[in-house]
Amino acid sequence: MSLYRIALQVRYFGKLYHKTKALLQKQTITFCIALCLCVASWAQQDVLSGDIYVRPEVQDKTIVGEVTYTYITGNDSLRLDAHNMIFSKVHVNGKKTAYAYDTRFLRIPPMGAVGDTLELSISYRVQPKQTVYFVGWEEEAQTRNPRLPQIWTQGQGKYTSHWVPSFDRMSEKVVFDLSIAFDAKYTVVANGKLKQVEEKDSYKIWHFDMQKPMSSYLLAFAIGDYGVQELTSKSGIPIRNYFTKVDSLKVEPTYRHTQAIFDFLETEIGVPYPWQNYKQLPVHDFLYAGMENTGATLFSDRYMVDSVAFNDENYVNVNAHEMAHQWFGNLVTEVGAKDHWLHEGFATYYAYLAQDAILGKRFLTWKLYETARQLREGKGQALLDPKASSLTFYEKGAWALFALRESLGDVHFKRGIKKFLTEYAYTNVTVAQFMTVMETVTGQSLTDFKSIWLKNESFPYQVAMELLAKRNSEIQSLLNWNQNKSKDTVSGIASLPKVWKKATTPLKKELTQAYFPQMEVDLQTLALQDDDLQVRKTALSHLKEFQLEFNPIVENMLTEKSYAIREMALFALWSHFPENRLDYLKKVTTGTVFESGSLRLGWLVLALMTEGISPDKQREYYLELTQYTGSAYPFEIRLQTFYYLHNLKGWQDRNLFDLLQACTHPVWRFREQSRELLKALAQQPEMAPRLQILSSRLTEKERKIVEPYLKKE
Ligand SMILES: [Zn+2]
Repeated sequence: MSLYRIALQVRYFGKLYHKTKALLQKQTITFCIALCLCVASWAQQDVLSGDIYVRPEVQDKTIVGEVTYTYITGNDSLRLDAHNMIFSKVHVNGKKTAYAYDTRFLRIPPMGAVGDTLELSISYRVQPKQTVYFVGWEEEAQTRNPRLPQIWTQGQGKYTSHWVPSFDRMSEKVVFDLSIAFDAKYTVVANGKLKQVEEKDSYKIWHFDMQKPMSSYLLAFAIGDYGVQELTSKSGIPIRNYFTKVDSLKVEPTYRHTQAIFDFLETEIGVPYPWQNYKQLPVHDFLYAGMENTGATLFSDRYMVDSVAFNDENYVNVNAHEMAHQWFGNLVTEVGAKDHWLHEGFATYYAYLAQDAILGKRFLTWKLYETARQLREGKGQALLDPKASSLTFYEKGAWALFALRESLGDVHFKRGIKKFLTEYAYTNVTVAQFMTVMETVTGQSLTDFKSIWLKNESFPYQVAMELLAKRNSEIQSLLNWNQNKSKDTVSGIASLPKVWKKATTPLKKELTQAYFPQMEVDLQTLALQDDDLQVRKTALSHLKEFQLEFNPIVENMLTEKSYAIREMALFALWSHFPENRLDYLKKVTTGTVFESGSLRLGWLVLALMTEGISPDKQREYYLELTQYTGSAYPFEIRLQTFYYLHNLKGWQDRNLFDLLQACTHPVWRFREQSRELLKALAQQPEMAPRLQILSSRLTEKERKIVEPYLKKE
């Protein structure tokens, strides 16, 4: 027996142990059903492990793969999800076997005796319609954006079964080991621990090892030209922060607080991090903010920021959120959509807790104060509603946990969470089971909690405010002040300077947000010059009436440590003081579009409309602007450039062609907004024929998608 075999057996045992425990928990229910129906025992197939080997082929965006599943047979056939695959081999225990396949499900008939352990091996080829994204492999894209090319996957919502025969049902947890063959010059990242890199002639095979079972939707890999920052958690878990090599200077601001968040979560949750290591990797045009693939979070590279952009939008919250999912979602997984609170509400809450501990400034309670108002204005949905919105699952979900902790107390709450995670580790769980654990641990009935926070559609705003007031005396004062002000607006507003004097940063931000236009000029000036950058930014964003005395203050903001502030200041000054336009443009440092995004675009557009800039320069700026519609650039930049060109009536054919292609983009928001714009353009008599001619250059598949938006209404 080789050592490798021993290792395998230990892992199978671990998996069986977790599964048996879950079965024991269900035994009373099973027992009742057995009594009532008197049916013969029925055994389900149970998949223990999966060894996957894939070779992505860039040329035709194809995956060539092999997968071997070890499973325990039951009475029924083994059903795998597999989209549009071509199988060259389907063997059980090394022998060719009969199977059924309808381009969606692969079914292996029951074989051997119930309880036998069998090995199913499949060789296949597939051109995934979704889930695997080959990004920026055209030469032009690579010259414009050195972060390209990349290949990456997104399983949740898109289904891993588009690139490997696997299990869409979250309850089938498998110990997966991934091996990926690719061109040796790239970096390959996947779930698990990199065990070995095999060198072949022109390529390498990266072998990753996992030891615990997980659902298929959490499988992931990513390929690109990456460097890595290595950290180790207090508990000794390796943390690897990847970055595209051109962005080495952005590593510190992007991954700021990573280790502190990790250490905080382990201590706070009270259950050790459940996987061998943790990796994070930014990718181009990611579909969401981030995705918590087991031990291998992928996130949008718009969060790769320098220390200036850090003050505008940064990765800290997403970082903490995806990390918290490693417990809530990955270690314990929902049974169905009505249990989604256990993923998103928990990840949101623990991310806020981590930031509260690390950033201070009463982060948690102020954040909840902000989301309570969004929830009050929202349409009101129960947390148990499987079709609830993100706002409900994430923010109402975080609120529910905050309220639960307030009612149980810290000690009971933490004890309950620990018991919940330990009892259901590596299995699936419902909200009802979570509530039972909390009730058992604390000996407290949670009937009221369930009805107010889980079943009720409306958000209990009054209850929520009372909870916040208990925790944060400044919020309590604000609530009192708001109440008095609603009785007497004039004296309420008049007392603002007094409140301001004693206020901490979050309260100042809150007051500026709510009352800036009503403030006296003196107080507005204080807000615009506050020590805290976020207060200054909030004040500037509400500055509509431009008093002359604000001029020097706003001019100083052209060099703020925030691209968003620089952009707002530039637009405000440029429109109010036409005679100084050239000076303002000179004073602002924008960096490239990859650093400052929207600021660079805005600067170019203003420069195009400023008198005194030479025609040569203007031509140069226009050419720069028009290149940003290309697929090498992040979709946020492309979309904004489309709008600018639309307003400037500055469309070149290549921009229109980029717009046509954008209508087929995998990112939903970008695709939809591009389609809206295309529809509007297609109604213009001078544009319609140009668009028709350009659309003939699209592929047939693209043309089919785009055609409806070219129609005249
Ligand atoms: Zn999440």
